[in-house]
Amino acid sequence: MLDPKLQPLPKVTHRQLLIRGLRCQCPNCGQAKLFETRLRIHRYCPNCGMRIERSDGYYLGPLCINYGATVFAFVLPTLLLGFFGYIAIKLALAIAFTGALLLPVLLYRFSWSCWLTIYYICLPDELHANRPEDCDDLSFEEEQRTRPKD
Ligand SMILES: [Zn+2]
Repeated sequence: MLDPKLQPLPKVTHRQLLIRGLRCQCPNCGQAKLFETRLRIHRYCPNCGMRIERSDGYYLGPLCINYGATVFAFVLPTLLLGFFGYIAIKLALAIAFTGALLLPVLLYRFSWSCWLTIYYICLPDELHANRPEDCDDLSFEEEQRTRPKD
């Protein structure tokens, strides 16, 4: 019997990527959770073996999503409510400060999942299940991206 990690996976559609992203599951197989602990992401999927954390700078995507959601969806609107007098400015500052500390931690997992979903929706051929059959590696290879399509 073949190793299940070597079995070809069915192609992953955008809809499946969105569902797996909302569930914080591996975008490739959808069988495993992305995180091994509350705040530590798996380097490789424990089910299919796809590399999840790809390189040193890969964390910048989730960081930007997390920062953007915290600032533009919570801190800025709260401060504007205080600035325009809908709530007391001291209360707005306290809520914004507390949110600025708590939201990044609360959104950490979801921002990683959002990043992986956006990444693989934009570059679906880099997902292991969507790769050409002649490609047998599990890590990103630059020549695979630049190889002309037949
Ligand atoms: Zn997987």
